[in-house]
Amino acid sequence: MLSSVLIANRGEIAVRVMKTAKRLGLRTIAVYSEADANAMHVRMADEAYCIGPAAARESYLVIEKIIVVAKQAKAEAIHPGYGFLSERAEFAEACAEAGIVFVGPPASAIRAMGLKDGAKALMQKAGVPVVPGYHGAMQEPKFLKEKAYEIGYPVLIKAVAGGGGKGMKRVDKAMDFDEALASAQREAQGAFGDPRVLIEKYVLSPRHIEIQVFGDTKGNVVHLFERDCSLQRRHQKVIEEAPAPGMPEAMREAMGRAAVEAAKAVGYVGAGTVEFIADGSQGLQPDRFWFMEMNTRLQVEHPVTEAITGQDLVEWQLRVASGERLPLLQENLAIGGHAVEARLYAEDPEKGFLPSTGTLHALEFGSAEGVRIDTGVEEGAEVSPYYDPMIAKVIAHGATRDEALDRLGQALAGTVVAGPRTNVRFLKALTEAEGFRAGDFDTGFIDRNVEALGAVPQPMDAEAARLGILKAIDTEWSHRNWQDGGLTDENTSPWQHVDGFQLGTARSITRRYWVNGEMVEARLTWPGPKPGHGEPNVAVTLDGGVSRFLSDYLALSHLPMFRQTPEVLFVIRNGRQTEIRAFDPLDVDLDHLDGGGSVKAPMHGKVVQVFVEAGQQVAKGDRIAVIEAMKMEHTLVAPSDGTVTMVAVLAGEQVAEGAPVASIEASAAQAA
Ligand code: ADP
Ligand code: ADP
Ligand code: MG
Repeated sequence: MLSSVLIANRGEIAVRVMKTAKRLGLRTIAVYSEADANAMHVRMADEAYCIGPAAARESYLVIEKIIVVAKQAKAEAIHPGYGFLSERAEFAEACAEAGIVFVGPPASAIRAMGLKDGAKALMQKAGVPVVPGYHGAMQEPKFLKEKAYEIGYPVLIKAVAGGGGKGMKRVDKAMDFDEALASAQREAQGAFGDPRVLIEKYVLSPRHIEIQVFGDTKGNVVHLFERDCSLQRRHQKVIEEAPAPGMPEAMREAMGRAAVEAAKAVGYVGAGTVEFIADGSQGLQPDRFWFMEMNTRLQVEHPVTEAITGQDLVEWQLRVASGERLPLLQENLAIGGHAVEARLYAEDPEKGFLPSTGTLHALEFGSAEGVRIDTGVEEGAEVSPYYDPMIAKVIAHGATRDEALDRLGQALAGTVVAGPRTNVRFLKALTEAEGFRAGDFDTGFIDRNVEALGAVPQPMDAEAARLGILKAIDTEWSHRNWQDGGLTDENTSPWQHVDGFQLGTARSITRRYWVNGEMVEARLTWPGPKPGHGEPNVAVTLDGGVSRFLSDYLALSHLPMFRQTPEVLFVIRNGRQTEIRAFDPLDVDLDHLDGGGSVKAPMHGKVVQVFVEAGQQVAKGDRIAVIEAMKMEHTLVAPSDGTVTMVAVLAGEQVAEGAPVASIEASAAQAA
């Protein structure tokens, strides 16, 4: 076995690789960019080296820097993870030149599979069925259009250097071909520096089914069954599972054989994935699948294969890289149960899946039997804009598909993230979606069901907003009570501490808050103290509904969860995040400003501070005074630019609701 390994990656995959490497007794070496100085993978490693600025092309993608560090740290091997340098033949070559073991296939295999056109030609020669189409050298638009006609619409234009679903265009009719081609070429040039494309028949009712393969240096190649990755958005995987629902044994055998052939044809060593597209329109059939591409690395979704086979694929990789034989041969491999993986992303499904970065103020994963969490971040960490916004992979294993999906749903339901928006609720909805549950789906499933899955703009969660406001008031009161030294032995509950003015009739005030960036008005009323109750007796009216006493809601099943920072309060309820901020400047009580320029007390209370004196110039929004009532402070501000003509109160004084506090004469410019 190797004695040390450098992991040329970051995030969850770096952590994942290190876990196994440590278990096997290897010394682990991390590399990191300046943005990742405090990252989990850095803290976990035995040694860590900074390799440059945040931008990947100045750090994680610089082959020379990584080789220098590997030599300095005396790393025996380099594991590339996935993404970044994992599929760069030059990287495998640079390792070889430096006398370092590359944990991956030979450079020649990476190169053979690197471009989709060459790979397809090679597979055709090896007798592997490929998607019908044109993958030759000619790139003239007129010629390609003729080919598209021969293939028959709909067709798919793909970048030969493509990856991550980029540079891919579906064309349904000849009329749209020219424009789609130009756009695919532009995208391909931009993303891969190579404008070349190929044309494929667009398979209807497409199912993405891939086969995990493994080779060793002795010429053994096995497959570890299939993964179904048909739940996709923009040609990118969202949920993956193994085995594939509805997969006939004959087809599994045929696909496994084809994948092993593919791997053998390029002298494959290590972990690889052969991706196929299958026509699911009449159910899966052994003669209705075609090679799409081979990914010459460990795949994001490898844990579902680990779950159903009971094998550790990173261990297999390290063993093979050490020159050992494959741990098991084909006849010793079997499928046990069913596994599903969901990719938890920092993105907002309600806003077109826009990436959502920032500090993870809360990060907790739900637990359920058979659930595994792969992550590279924890509470307090940042989701930075520099890298892939994946927060974690949630993987569930069960005896049956339903059990695995139930467990995945349970884990997702208990997952709480505050700060960045996430797709957790969307993923949860997918685990429950009828067609998907029934195994009746293809790669268009998500697009066809976006609305039902909640991935469209949604109205504000008014109840979450009301409860959040109650929570904020609760915090505000307890904070003030502490400041006042109000907690004594005989009165340990601050809410029982009653101010004189509070007795008597119900009082109310309007406060403004930013809820998810939108200004809302909440009516706060307090009908007087409720003896013996341990929280403020305030009712919050918002959006036509009223909420009161947080404790009543905590008993409900849809228990909200709160996270507070000095600026924001997050309410997480039903997998959705509602963000509440105080209206700035502080609590501007616009109701009690009038055009005549007089500032009035919004409620009965005590004047805490006065900021102005007669004759002073003020600007609109400047603070005039702070009034406290019910342990909440309300800042009164100037309604317009102007001059203070009168101040009617002194600090420490009690004022009645509606009492004048100050008068401001608007300046001429303002008045005109
Ligand atoms: P593919 O979508 O290419 O068939 P995968 O599902 O395994 O294969 O996804 C790999 C993709 O993950 C890469 O193409 C890249 O966009 C993304 N990626 C790369 N590096 C990282 C990383 N460190 N963390 C998360 N995602 C990454
Ligand atoms: P990438 O390198 O971006 O992963 P792939 O060739 O693997 O590119 O295709 C990505 C996805 O696009 C597939 O998972 C599948 O959903 C869809 N796709 C690719 N080829 C076809 C096809 N011929 N017909 C229908 N869908 C396809
Ligand atoms: Mg692919």
